[in-house]
Amino acid sequence: MTVREILTAAHPALRKKARRVGDLTPALDKLIDDMIETMREAPGVGLAAPQVGVSQRVIVVEYAENEEQEQPAEVDQPPAPRKLFVVINPELVRPSVAMVTATEGCLSVPGYAGEVERFAEVSVKGLNRRGSPIRLRARGWLARIFQHEVDHLDGVLYTDRAQRVWALEKEETLDNV
Ligand code: ZN
Repeated sequence: MTVREILTAAHPALRKKARRVGDLTPALDKLIDDMIETMREAPGVGLAAPQVGVSQRVIVVEYAENEEQEQPAEVDQPPAPRKLFVVINPELVRPSVAMVTATEGCLSVPGYAGEVERFAEVSVKGLNRRGSPIRLRARGWLARIFQHEVDHLDGVLYTDRAQRVWALEKEETLDNV
C-alpha cells in the first residue's frame, strides 16, 4: 500500500465529474488499498478518488456507524468501533426531509472549516470492492461524510455549499473528509 498525495482545492482534478467504474481490476484494488492508507495517514474519516487525482467513482469512509459527533464522550464507555466502508459507484437515495447544519472540514481544503447544511439521514447504495451490491442507511455524522464524499465525485467541494467558511486556529482539528 502506498500513501498518495492528497490534492488541494486549486487542483482542477477536484472539479471534474468522476467516471463510473466499469470492470473491477487489480489497478482498482490497488487504488482502494492506497486510498485507505492515505485516509488513515492524513488522518481523515473519508476520502474520494478525485482527491488523489483519480477520476473514478470510488469512496472510502472509516467512521463508527451512526456515531454522533455532537454527543459528549462518556468516560466509562469505550469509543464505538470504527467501521471501514468502501463504496464503488455510490449513489445517495431516500434522503430525509430533515436537514442538519454542522461544521465540516476537508483534507483537500486544509486549515479551514465551514458550516454546511446536509440531509440528516441518507441511504447509500453501490458496490463493495468485490463487486457485490451494498446498501446502507446512514444518519448523523456518517450521513454527512457520505454526502461530502459523493460531492467530491461530482466535482463539488463543501466550500461551495457552506453558509460560511473560516480559517482554523493552529491547534484546532476536525475529522476531515
Ligand atoms: Zn473532502
